[in-house]
Amino acid sequence: MISLRIIPFGDIPKEVFDILTEELLYKFTALVDVYEQIGLPKEHFNSVRHQFLSERVLEFISSNFKGRTLGILDEDLYTGDLNFIFGQAQMRGKVAIISVHRMKPTFYKNEADKNILMQRIVKEAVHEVGHMLGLEHCNNSGCVMNFSNTIIDVDRKTKDLCESCKNKLGVY
Ligand SMILES: [Zn+2]
Ligand SMILES: [Zn+2]
Repeated sequence: MISLRIIPFGDIPKEVFDILTEELLYKFTALVDVYEQIGLPKEHFNSVRHQFLSERVLEFISSNFKGRTLGILDEDLYTGDLNFIFGQAQMRGKVAIISVHRMKPTFYKNEADKNILMQRIVKEAVHEVGHMLGLEHCNNSGCVMNFSNTIIDVDRKTKDLCESCKNKLGVY
């Protein structure tokens, strides 16, 4: 049994935490503990890009919290040569983050839909926790460990690990 802390940074729909707790327990036998919402230090915000640099957020979390931690942000994230990312994890590390910013249907000028938003959050959270536990990207397009470049990719894949990824779990 592993333990995992989830920290909401910003306004995240409360209902998603129950679903996440259940999914992460079921998939990774992870015991989830959800923290109170906290703010991210503004000095890590890039005010030209209106985004947080992913690595800075990972560093902030790992220097302030011990143990495995998944941060969920409502702010937008970018990294090195990618304009934006849905999330990032330290491979076999302690910290992962996801951003719900581009998971919101309203970002794409669609009507707000909490259900769709929650499905996307669950998929990307499972994906990043998978990386923390040693899983790499998977070529199976339905597998949750498939890389998502766009929201269409997120919607296409399932929230589940394929058989091959399931078998790799626990080997590391
Ligand atoms: Zn990934
Ligand atoms: Zn897979």
